Amino acid sequence: MARVAVLGGGISGLGAALMLGRRGHSVTLFEQDARQAGDDLDRDFFHWDRPRIPQAVQPHSFLAPVRTVLRTEAPDVYADLLARGAREYHEFDWFGVHPLHRAGDEDLMTLRTRRIVLEAALTAAVRRERTVEVRRGCRVRALTIEEGRPAQVTGLQVGAELHQADLVVDASGRRSPVPAWLIAAGCRPPVVDSHRAGIAYLCRWYRLRADGPRDPGRVKTGSAAPFALAGVFPSDNDTFAVNLVLSTGDPTRGALTDPAVFEAAARRFPATAAWLGLAPEPQSAVLAMAGLDNLWTALADDDGPVVTGLVNAGDSLIHTNPTLGQGAALGLRAAQYLATHVDQIAADPVVYHTWTTKALRPWFDAQVTVDRANEQRLAECSPSSDRRAAALAACAYDDPVVMRARAQVRHLLRLAHDAYGTDEVDRHVTAWLVAHPDFTPTYDGPTRDQWDALIPDWK
Ligand SMILES: Cc1cc2nc3c(=O)[nH]c(=O)nc-3n(C[C@H](O)[C@H](O)[C@H](O)COP(=O)(O)OP(=O)(O)OC[C@H]3O[C@@H](n4cnc5c(N)ncnc54)[C@H](O)[C@@H]3O)c2cc1C
Repeated sequence: MARVAVLGGGISGLGAALMLGRRGHSVTLFEQDARQAGDDLDRDFFHWDRPRIPQAVQPHSFLAPVRTVLRTEAPDVYADLLARGAREYHEFDWFGVHPLHRAGDEDLMTLRTRRIVLEAALTAAVRRERTVEVRRGCRVRALTIEEGRPAQVTGLQVGAELHQADLVVDASGRRSPVPAWLIAAGCRPPVVDSHRAGIAYLCRWYRLRADGPRDPGRVKTGSAAPFALAGVFPSDNDTFAVNLVLSTGDPTRGALTDPAVFEAAARRFPATAAWLGLAPEPQSAVLAMAGLDNLWTALADDDGPVVTGLVNAGDSLIHTNPTLGQGAALGLRAAQYLATHVDQIAADPVVYHTWTTKALRPWFDAQVTVDRANEQRLAECSPSSDRRAAALAACAYDDPVVMRARAQVRHLLRLAHDAYGTDEVDRHVTAWLVAHPDFTPTYDGPTRDQWDALIPDWK
């Protein structure tokens, strides 16, 4: 059995600790924040200052792998998530009556909940695990590294203490200090791929009134303007978030942090207007976040692992901008792989690096491709010029075959060229276009003039 030290107690660190501990490995998790997610979800969500993980209060929805990994590895945690208020949404729920399911369709499920609910359920489970020791309020300040080719990590340093481990898992998030530590210690540098996304997220939380209307009707959860996206995140316990995404260079960005301006702007998009029309109670200020770049950090180069005794998982390995909501799914997939192969990985991490390149890297590349197309579209301020691609997106809401393909891509189950590149999808999109001869790609959000008129004094 391996002795594993986990650096960071976010979703990936907690997930890895739990899955390793349940296989009998001896795990110590170090988390710099002394506070932990408990049973008072609103207090922990709205009143916990977490400057090092600003995304904690941004809206989340969890893709299929979160559900499938948890149901396989920790069904009790999954049940706890639902008991705490997380809700399942199947992609076919859009159609009211589900079309006949095919094998695998049962997995096309989103978990609708605030991130804190997942943290609370994982935290509670990890606390019950005898093989896992959680040390909160403990900031790891360095790794212990033995020279060699490659160098070997033998543990980590917390205060004056040296903690030894067979394997250190860096789950310290998107601002991981580990690459800098390795370079300072004279190791070969990690290979970092960075892609600037240039988008800003703004959100505000609401709660449906107990005695108010609760059903927005059959409305999509996303809308778009040439320069902005708007989305709704239905969540646990009657909460939901309204979210606007726009370019970091947009001159109106600052004005949108005023709740009145934010709401007026959000009411111009059908998706968010429908939910704001339910007269919900605001629960938060407008919460803004930028710096949402795509970052891939490999602890291996062409010559193999830059170090042994150390791997990274979660955002410290793969951090994609949040528009596709991949983070927790990729983090838990990595945690599951680590837990099932830990002895092998502790002996030689090459097996882990090979797996991450094969299983996770394609989703990083897919996000970068989507971002490049969006950047071009935003720069040109015009809808997609690819009528067929736009038809594919629109047709999914009418046609279960296309919805299935779209959901498989969205839930990280099949890559786009695979899922969309079948004769069946091709036939269905062609038939849809024949039935909609006037279809042209368009936006359902406001024009730029309408938008600017909404935003007072930004010029
Ligand atoms: C705006 C936004 C929206 C998002 N929406 C979604 C979504 O809808 N769905 C989804 O799945 N994902 C989403 N994500 C991504 C998701 O939030 C992350 O992928 C996820 O939080 C990563 O978890 P993690 O455990 O890897 O890292 P983190 O949650 O960042 O946790 C890292 C932990 O390490 C600790 N730590 C750091 N350094 C040290 C140290 N030296 N010593 C001890 N502890 C340390 C930190 O305190 C922290 O608790 C979104 C991200 C953003 C930015």
